[in-house]
Amino acid sequence: MTAQYDVVIVGAGPAGLAAGLSLVRARRRTLLIDSNRPRNAATLHSHGFITRDGASPLELRRLGREEFEAYPAAEFHSGLVRSVTLLDVDREGEAGQGSAAAVGAWDSVDLSNGQPRFRITTRGLRGAPNLDVTARTVVIATGLTETLPALPSIRAWYGTNLHSCIDCDGYEKADAALALVGESNDLAERAVLISQWTNDLMVFTNGIGEVSDADEARLLGRGIRVDRRRIVDIVGERGAMTGIELEDGEIVAREAGFVRPHWTPTIDYLEPLITQLHTDDEGLIVVDEHGRTSIPGLYAAGDSTPPGPEQLMVAAGSGAHAAAMLNRDLLGPF
Ligand SMILES: Cc1cc2nc3c(=O)[nH]c(=O)nc-3n(C[C@H](O)[C@H](O)[C@H](O)COP(=O)(O)OP(=O)(O)OC[C@H]3O[C@@H](n4cnc5c(N)ncnc54)[C@H](O)[C@@H]3O)c2cc1C
Repeated sequence: MTAQYDVVIVGAGPAGLAAGLSLVRARRRTLLIDSNRPRNAATLHSHGFITRDGASPLELRRLGREEFEAYPAAEFHSGLVRSVTLLDVDREGEAGQGSAAAVGAWDSVDLSNGQPRFRITTRGLRGAPNLDVTARTVVIATGLTETLPALPSIRAWYGTNLHSCIDCDGYEKADAALALVGESNDLAERAVLISQWTNDLMVFTNGIGEVSDADEARLLGRGIRVDRRRIVDIVGERGAMTGIELEDGEIVAREAGFVRPHWTPTIDYLEPLITQLHTDDEGLIVVDEHGRTSIPGLYAAGDSTPPGPEQLMVAAGSGAHAAAMLNRDLLGPF
C-alpha cells in the first residue's frame, strides 16, 4: 500500500508555508491543510519580515500560498484537521503504541518504503469536502491559541492599540505613554524589554499578575511603575485608546500598550497520539534541532514548539529547517 502523500502539513502560517515550499521544490507530494484562523489576524501590519516589512498578514499568507501552489507536487485543502492517527504499519524496532521514544531518536526507522504511516481526517471549510487521507510523514504547524485577560473591550483594542509581540510592534509605539497588562509571572522581564521604546511605561497586574517586591524595586529604578489594582476595562474614544479604568474608578491615562496573553498550542487534533508525543510543561511540542518529534515521521515547527510565541521570520525558518530534515529522512538511512 502506497501513501497518498509524502507529507501532510497541518497549518499554513509562515512555518507551514515555508515547509511546504521547500518540500514541493524537493518534488515531494505535499498536501497543505489550513483552517484560515491565524493568530495574527487581529493586526493590519506585520513587521520585521525581510522584503515585506509592514505588509498585511493576509497578504503574506496569500503570497506564500500562491508560491506553494505554483509547483506540480503541491495541493492545498481548506479544512480543519480533526485527527492525526498512526497507522498499523510494520514498525519493528520502534517504540510501541503508548510508549514515547526519545525526541528525534529515529535512526533505526526507515521512512523510505513509501508506506503510509499516518491517517489524517478533516472537516472541509468554505465548500471543500471532508478529507480522509494517508501520508508517510506529517508536519505540525498549527501555532498557538491565545486567551487575553477577561476585560470587556480588550479584543477591540488588540492588534491596533494593544499588542502582544513587543519586538514586532515596539517601534510603532515608541515614546508613547504605554501600559503592560498581564496576569502572568513574567511581567517584569517583559516591561524591561518594552522600556527600549519608551520612558513612560506602567505595568498593570489586574490583581493577578505576579511581580515580586524585588522586581518592583528594580522596575522603579528604571522609571517603570507597577499598579496592582483590578482593571475594569480599557477605555478610549473613536478608535484611540485613552486609558486603563481601575476598580476604584480612576482612569490612568495610557495611549497604547502591550498585553500578555495566555498561550496554548493548537493541537487538540493530536489527541490520538498524545501518549507518544513529548510535550513540555506548557503543552508545546518538543522537537530536536531538526524539527523531529518523539514520533517517527512526525515533525513540528513554528509557534507550537518551544519557546512558543516568536515572530514570522523565526516560524518560517523553523518550517524550512524541518522540511530539509524531512526530505532527507524520506530517503532512508545511508
Ligand atoms: C496580533 C499579532 C501580531 C503579530 N505581529 C507580528 C509582526 O508584526 N511581526 C512578526 O514577525 N510576528 C508577528 N506576530 C507573531 C507571528 O504572527 C507568529 O509568530 C507566527 O504567525 C507563527 O507562525 P506559525 O506558522 O507557527 O503559526 P500561525 O501563523 O498561527 O499559523 C497557524 C495556522 O494553523 C491553522 N490551524 C490551526 N489549527 C488547525 C487545524 N486543526 N487544521 C488546519 N489548520 C489549522 C491556523 O488556521 C493558522 O492558519 C504577531 C502575532 C500576533 C498575535
